[in-house]
Amino acid sequence: MASTPKSETAAAEPMASSDAQSAAKARAKRLTHKAFLEAVSLHLRAAGKVTNVPEHVLSIAEHTKNEIIVNFPVRMDDGTIRMFAGFRVQHNNVLGPFKGGMRFHPSVSLDDLKALAAMMTWKCALMDIPFGGGKGGVQCDPRSMSQAELMRVTRRFTHALGSNIGPDYDIPAPDVGTNAQVMVWMMDTYMNTVGHVQKNAQRAVVTGKTLNSGGSKGREKATAAGLVHCLVEWAKANEVPLEGKTAAIQGFGNVGGNAALILTKYGVSTVAVGDHTGYAHNPEGFNPHMLLDHVKEHGGIADYGRSTPISREAFFSTPVDFFIPAALENQIDEDEARSMKTRIVLEAANGPITPAGEAVLLSRGIEIIPDLLANSGGVIVSYYEWVQNKRNESWSSEKVAEKLEQAMVHGYTKVSAFARQHQCPWRTAAYAIALENLATAYAERGIFP
Ligand code: NAD
Repeated sequence: MASTPKSETAAAEPMASSDAQSAAKARAKRLTHKAFLEAVSLHLRAAGKVTNVPEHVLSIAEHTKNEIIVNFPVRMDDGTIRMFAGFRVQHNNVLGPFKGGMRFHPSVSLDDLKALAAMMTWKCALMDIPFGGGKGGVQCDPRSMSQAELMRVTRRFTHALGSNIGPDYDIPAPDVGTNAQVMVWMMDTYMNTVGHVQKNAQRAVVTGKTLNSGGSKGREKATAAGLVHCLVEWAKANEVPLEGKTAAIQGFGNVGGNAALILTKYGVSTVAVGDHTGYAHNPEGFNPHMLLDHVKEHGGIADYGRSTPISREAFFSTPVDFFIPAALENQIDEDEARSMKTRIVLEAANGPITPAGEAVLLSRGIEIIPDLLANSGGVIVSYYEWVQNKRNESWSSEKVAEKLEQAMVHGYTKVSAFARQHQCPWRTAAYAIALENLATAYAERGIFP
């Protein structure tokens, strides 16, 4: 990963005035890590109201099963030893092994990971994937580290987690700041903790690996592909032709960048983009291939050229047909929601809209395809990767793509039908379906002893 001049914790504000800076500070103060965790609880309670799920299931669901914190030393390139804090939160494994990403980012916190781990439980339960929910990460800025340092942090973190992860117990995947290479280092480190005879059976300990090391075809683009399937279904249902439409995408990493690429195949052009290094507008539409190459080389979209740099505020108020937040949580609060000029928000990121932001969007008639559904393509293909590893199989791209599309259309149909029947927001519908699945498992199994 290329080094970057700025910390990602501060949303980039090119040419920000002192007013804009103090507004950003006030916003950051309001949107604490706790607020994200509370938002997930709020969504759960709203879903509880439209289902007959017993109170004790809601109460179990509001708690995480295990919260693991590991502090570990790593030798940096200059010879100094630095301590790092690593986390793994395991929310629920009633429907299957814990499953969820590993985030390497300076803002990683236990509260955020608790919220994200719970969301993984709901996502898998909604999409009928036999996994539970987990999330983890390391508080660090991978963009400021060399590849060798990143590898040592990854390996030492994996070693510190020890048997708290495993192919039948807890299966990490990539998330913000991690990628297929990081997953391969995790797999290799974990493999080396078992006897030689069992080594190859451990490949399934992580998903999102490189193809060569046991990854699945189609995994890298899966989240973005799943998101676009949702958009295509929505467009069919609303009789909106996609050709000639425009999109704004916040976050131009794995999910945002691939979403822009896939959208071009449908004739949708991305006219506004943003990431931790800045925001930019091009009414003619960005060339996603060229912008991705630039991001790869420079670590962000800043200084791309062929566009006009804009402020964060201007980005959110750019008129577009579709808005895709694909960066971090809590990006669309009341102010952003009031200024947005779009018809639909597709949540590629987890939790990008605050409850207050959602209320404003819905009151303005702006539709939301919620994260549990919209970004579930990643965990769906992760599940396919896990199955392939377990069976020593290698599926074709066509097979993965076809199964993913079927799964996404099925999920979309379920959520839209539930929302229609119960006259509730799509987010509530998604949580409610997931909650009902979990409650059925608890009803069948009972509470031990
Ligand atoms: P990534 O690390 O590849 O990209 C993250 C992007 O967010 C980068 O472009 C980065 O510059 C931008 N960003 C970071 N901080 C920002 C800030 N303060 N303001 C504006 N932009 C900022 O990560 P990714 O895998 O693309 O994940 C993006 C989102 O999608 C996350 O919320 C993640 O949880 C979610 N998600 C990812 C997957 C997956 O398969 N990768 C699956 C489901 C959900």
